[in-house]
Amino acid sequence: MEMAKSIIEDPISYKICIVCEAIVDRECDCCPACSAYKFNSNSEDVVNRAIDIAAKPQTAIAHQSIYKD
Ligand SMILES: [Zn+2]
Repeated sequence: MEMAKSIIEDPISYKICIVCEAIVDRECDCCPACSAYKFNSNSEDVVNRAIDIAAKPQTAIAHQSIYKD
């Protein structure tokens, strides 16, 4: 999964929505998926989440529309 790969290589550019667990760009003020304002920006957690997404293709597709390159 290319998306997960780029996240794993550059986790500091991303953060995780603590409500829906979507990975969003760090510059986003609120989650594009659920409009939450709380995020986990721990790089290690972002990497783990990306690996998790990569392991579950269906979840990755759901999150792909959120993701902005
Ligand atoms: Zn969310």
